[in-house]
Order: sequence, then C-alpha cells, then structure tokens
Amino acid sequence: MKALVYHGPGERVWEEKPYPVIQQATDAIVRVTHTTICGTDLHILKGDVPTCEAGRTLGHEGVGVVESVGEGVGTIKVGDRVLISCISSCGRCDYCKRGIYAHCRDGGWILGHRIDGTQAEYVRIPHADNSLYQVPERLPSEAAVMLSDILPTGHEIGALNGEVGLGDTVAIVGAGPIGLAALLTARFYSPARIIAIDPDENRLAMARTLGATDTLSGDAVSSVMAMTDGEGVDVAMEAVGIPETFDTCQQIVRPGGHIANIGVHGTSVSLRLEDLWIKNVTVRTGLVNTNTIPVLMRFVEAGGVDAASLITHRLELADIEHAYDLFADAAQQRAIKMILTAA
Ligand SMILES: [Zn+2]
Ligand SMILES: [Zn+2]
Repeated sequence: MKALVYHGPGERVWEEKPYPVIQQATDAIVRVTHTTICGTDLHILKGDVPTCEAGRTLGHEGVGVVESVGEGVGTIKVGDRVLISCISSCGRCDYCKRGIYAHCRDGGWILGHRIDGTQAEYVRIPHADNSLYQVPERLPSEAAVMLSDILPTGHEIGALNGEVGLGDTVAIVGAGPIGLAALLTARFYSPARIIAIDPDENRLAMARTLGATDTLSGDAVSSVMAMTDGEGVDVAMEAVGIPETFDTCQQIVRPGGHIANIGVHGTSVSLRLEDLWIKNVTVRTGLVNTNTIPVLMRFVEAGGVDAASLITHRLELADIEHAYDLFADAAQQRAIKMILTAA
C-alpha cells in the first residue's frame, strides 16, 4: 500500500509500505477514504517534533471503513464507516477515566507521531472501541474529518477553556484552521461579539462568513481596546503559537477574563504576571482530549455547524505530495483545510 512517509526534516515521500496488521486484540485496521493535513504535520517536517522518527507515516485525522478488528474489539464492526480521533485512548486507565484522553497511559497523540498515521491507504488504530466513532449515515465523510482534530481542539481548548458565555466579547488571535474552528464552536455559547485578528485578509473574510462580528488586521491591541471602551475582551484565544500573539492576548483581556492558549509554541513566552494577577485573569492551555467529539458530531450532523465550510481544497490521496506543497504556501493558496480522498 501507499503512505506519506516522513524521512527526517524537510523530507516526505508518498511511497510503498507494508499493509498494517493487527498487533493487539483491541486494534482495528481502517481503509482510509478521507484524510487531511494539519499544521502539526508541517511542524514535524520542520523538525520541531523530535519524538517523531524518520520512517513514520504522517497524519492524525481521517475517516475510513473498518477492514478488520482484533478479537477484543466490541462495538466497532468490520464495514463500519468511522471517524478516527487524533487522540488514541484506552478508556480504562486513570487519565481516561477522568476524561483526559490526551494523557492516556497507552495512547494520547500517537497517530502520525509515535505510530504510523492516517495519510495512507490503510492505518492501524489502537484501542479501536474508544478511538473510533461510527459516522451517522447522513453525515458526509469530508465534514466528519473536521471532527478528528480541529473542531474538538477549537471547542475544548478554545471555547471551553476560555469559558465563552452568553453575551461575551471574544477575540480570536489567528484565523487559520484552528482559529476558525474555535470561532465556529465558540458560537455554541452565544457570545455577543467575536473579533477575529489576523494579518491575512482572505482569512478574515472567511472569519466574517463563519460569524465573526469584527475583523482586525492591523494594530490589534489598541483597536480592541478602542472597540471595547478601554475594557478589553472577556475571552482572548491564542491560535497561532508565537510569543507576539500570546502577548496580544495578555494585553486585551479584561479583568476577570480568560486567556485560552490553543497555539502550539516552540519557544517560551513572557508572562505579564505583574498585570494579570491583579486583573483576576485565568490562563489555560492544553492538548485536546477529543472527549467532546460525540456532542460535536451531533451538531455537525444536524447542520448546527457547517464543518465543511472550512474545506478550501479537494485532491486525490495519491496527490498528497502536491497537497503538502499547497498547504505549506497556505496564505498564497488561500488554503484552510484540504480534503484528500482515496480513489
Ligand atoms: Zn492536527
Ligand atoms: Zn487510557
């Protein structure tokens, strides 16, 4: 079978690889029908994720059809159309029992990282009963792919960690795929205003389409303060992962407000603790648990959120090398999410 294999920083090839096989009784083998590329895959290619070794098949998002299951798999059946969670979890360890699937003792973010991932014709999914979700019949596969990672991440690490509430003013710093997913899911909690901040006008146009009430491309701090009568925002979400955007969040959050850091940072940020403490600000961050996939799936299925609106490019899985080139040039290509479909 074919797979997109990481061969060290800057090196990736769509190449022949052995078919995955059941290794544990709780495994399933899934024939991938739809997958996508994440910003995290680009981080791996830059060499930012040393725990991902050369020879690894990339990808942690996708939908497919179950080909075979181990004898310990109970609810997932051969032939099921399934959503693959970016987080694999046993459902039985102490962390799983607290709903912190990200820190499962025998899982977490391992797909396309520590074990072979979903950018392939077939993938082995450990702990299949807890890591796969049957896709309802009327939910299209390409919309379902948005539930593997970006919608739960935007929801859990953005909207929930930020405690978005009725009538709030929310600022989302960074209108890439994750920032836009945070925007879509923040709307569940009925904020009065959502201010999207990004230097890219195309992304801001997309943010307005998805429900942002205001967009800013210039000096965000003074603009936000002016827009909020000098008070700042109730919730500031960081969806980029660099010190400058985190600092913007620290400067625009109002007393009693929340900073939700979603971005993956490669370097330290400076914490303005001297200002934040007296403003009763909370700062939260985290790796997605994906424990809200079931509720998000109900919203997407019912049409309460248009997940497919995040898809800007559709290519064949065999063209994934070209898709990586396009995604690496996302601003020029106006790329948000690309769907790769198996022939
Ligand atoms: Zn991802
Ligand atoms: Zn576990």
